[in-house]
Amino acid sequence: MNNKPKSTGSKMPLYTHENNEEGSHSRRMTDEEWQAIVENEASYDGTFYYAVKTTGIFCRPSCKSRAPKKENVLLFRNANEALSEGVRPCKRCKPNGLRLPDEDWTRQIIHVIDMNYHEPFTLMRLADMCHGSPYHLHCTFKKMTGYTPKQYQKLQNQKDHREA
Ligand SMILES: [Zn+2]
Repeated sequence: MNNKPKSTGSKMPLYTHENNEEGSHSRRMTDEEWQAIVENEASYDGTFYYAVKTTGIFCRPSCKSRAPKKENVLLFRNANEALSEGVRPCKRCKPNGLRLPDEDWTRQIIHVIDMNYHEPFTLMRLADMCHGSPYHLHCTFKKMTGYTPKQYQKLQNQKDHREA
C-alpha cells in the first residue's frame, strides 16, 4: 500500500488570508497572547478570540484544546469578527455563548476531514481538532450523515483517486 500524501496544490485553504492583507479582521498575535493560548489562560477570555486555519474553528483563550501551530492561528477582537470571517464557534468553549447545534458541528467535522484527510487519521485526533469527545463525535457524525468519520474519510480518498 502506498499511501504517501500527495500535495494538494489545487485545494484552496478556506481560511487563510493573503499575506499582509490590510483590512482583514485577523491581526498579528503578541507573544503574550500566544502564551495565553498555550496555557489556556482564562484571564484573557473576552480580550481576544483565536481561530485555527486548519480547522476553521475559533475559541476563547482558555479553551482546553491542544495548542495549535503558531503559524496557523488567526486572532480576532470579538466573536462577531470571527464569525464574519467565516470561522465557526468551538463546541467545547462556546466562544459566542451559544450551544453549537449537531448540524453545525457535523459540518465542522466534515470540513476538518475534507481539509486533512490525507494525513494520518484517528478518531482521537479528529475529536481533538473538532473539540469534542471521540465517542460523542462518532455518534453525532453517524447520526447526521449515516457514515462513520472513518468511512467518510475513505470516501474522500477514493474520490481523489478517481479524479487523478
Ligand atoms: Zn474552544
